[in-house]
Amino acid sequence: MRILLLEDNPVNQTLIASQLKKLGHQVDTVSNGQQGFLRATSNQYDIFLCDILMPHWDGFKFIEAMTVVCPTMPIVVISSSIATNDLVNKLKPYSNICAILAKPLDMVKLSAILQETSSQSHENLGKMARIVCTIGPSSNKQEVINKMIMAGMDVARLNFSHGSYESHEKVLNMIRHAEKEWMRPVAVLMDLCGPKIRTGNMQDGMATLVPGEMVIIQAADIEGTSQRFSTIAPEILGDLRVGDPILLDDGLLELKVEKAGVNEVHCRVLVGGKLKSHKGINLPATPLSLPCLTAKDKADLAWGMEHSVDFVALSFVRSVDDIVELKELIRKTGTRKIHVVAKIEKPEAMENIDAIIDATDVIMIARGDLGVEIPASRVPWIQRQIIKKCWEKNKPVITATQMLETMTQNARPTRAEVTDVSLAIQEGTDAVMLSGETAAGVDPVNVVRTMASIICESERHLEQKLDHNQILVDKTDINPALSAAASLGLAAATLVIDFGNNLYQHMSKWNRRTPTLLATNSIHSARHACIYKNVIPIITKEELSRDQLVFWAISEAKDRGYLVGGDILAVVEGARKTQGGIDQMGAFQLIRVA
Ligand code: PEP
Repeated sequence: MRILLLEDNPVNQTLIASQLKKLGHQVDTVSNGQQGFLRATSNQYDIFLCDILMPHWDGFKFIEAMTVVCPTMPIVVISSSIATNDLVNKLKPYSNICAILAKPLDMVKLSAILQETSSQSHENLGKMARIVCTIGPSSNKQEVINKMIMAGMDVARLNFSHGSYESHEKVLNMIRHAEKEWMRPVAVLMDLCGPKIRTGNMQDGMATLVPGEMVIIQAADIEGTSQRFSTIAPEILGDLRVGDPILLDDGLLELKVEKAGVNEVHCRVLVGGKLKSHKGINLPATPLSLPCLTAKDKADLAWGMEHSVDFVALSFVRSVDDIVELKELIRKTGTRKIHVVAKIEKPEAMENIDAIIDATDVIMIARGDLGVEIPASRVPWIQRQIIKKCWEKNKPVITATQMLETMTQNARPTRAEVTDVSLAIQEGTDAVMLSGETAAGVDPVNVVRTMASIICESERHLEQKLDHNQILVDKTDINPALSAAASLGLAAATLVIDFGNNLYQHMSKWNRRTPTLLATNSIHSARHACIYKNVIPIITKEELSRDQLVFWAISEAKDRGYLVGGDILAVVEGARKTQGGIDQMGAFQLIRVA
């Protein structure tokens, strides 16, 4: 079995580990609960053996964290103070504790416990793909955010279609607080609502549209009825042409324009139903004159630039110009870099997809609106194409919307949802996104944990169909140090030293067999790396020389279980000047870990 032993007494640690190894088990040891947490969340184990009295997090804090991360993983508590009723009572609430053993350990008893324990390798440990979680009323509390980070949230999404600056700031502060406590960088993504077109107010909140009847959409604000209603974006009326389809409420209702006009448009109801206030209007065939970046988006972006936001997502992107305009706005403020996420949800974006991928930092396949703007049956194929293109162009891609939708209400996902997440992982998505599931769902922490365990299980069975590394070696425009690292089959991990050269972005795509460790002294780089699959940021707190950084990163990687003594580590860095003043292109070094 794969066992993680937490024991601060070095004599006990060596003794227990050697006895277990003699019995044929694989044992990793740590000396405190904090190290135990880092190890447990980056490796695969079958059982934990946990001392109670330890420095830097006692056993209780470790056990508490594990009930969030992997509640079915068995824990054997080992303690010298076993005799006290107090300890037994305190441990009672934790259902993951399968036994409490006194020290020195009765190895016959422990062996029997290990034999009875079945392997739980489906647990949520050591995933490569990233999880983006939308924060909303169910999750905008410090305790829930802490637990979501523990369970595997890498990026928190603030949806600017809802909430005030005050409420977003509160959440941002909670995330920054939690990332310190759990020693894990977490990126914040602000999602600008863009030109989202909605219905105006309806009389009594709702009107029924009857198939075959006519209905008018008018510019002047009105309490809507089944004969006429208004929209929050009256500018669209002038863009509508006779014959254009109009989809309402995520495509549940459909109209067709029969008479165009700037003040009112007459439509035939093709698919009827109940239409509520503020429901989405999609115009898949109409070339819109509305700008992609609205006045609200610009004000929201200015807020994001003043706060510690790492990514900004642009909705309803149509062409590369939309990305260029946003990047220009970010550049003009000149304060710092915010990376741009292009949300693909319009047919026009698919026509310009190559240029958009080239121009943006990250792509999001926003399957919700995409599946309304184009036939939903085409979404799986488009998803596959975009992921493939992003892989070829070294851009991270987020697959979004309705991934575990039923978990908004339920404790378990449907089998179809599990298969959807698993397929996205197999196709090579860097990240998967949760929307209503974590923003308004019954148990956001359970959703993140479920998502993480599906990712782990799927990654265990990933097939490396193409010889990715060989392709990298063959590519001439890639940094030579990366090619060297990729062509090497024997390194246990690759350490990328980031002095702003972003080499890790290539490694993330090309190296999915062993971890890519990113050593950086910039918290911003570490947060940006949170959207890249299989990149583990290791942040130095102070200015270190290049060699100090390498040694420090090795010791951190050993603590977290990515490296053990005897392993070979490939170290990659971008262009630099040597001490003798020579320009060096892509330095590459192999180190045997002591
Ligand atoms: C989507 O449409 O899939 C999406 C992610 O965008 P939003 O949640 O802003 O509608």
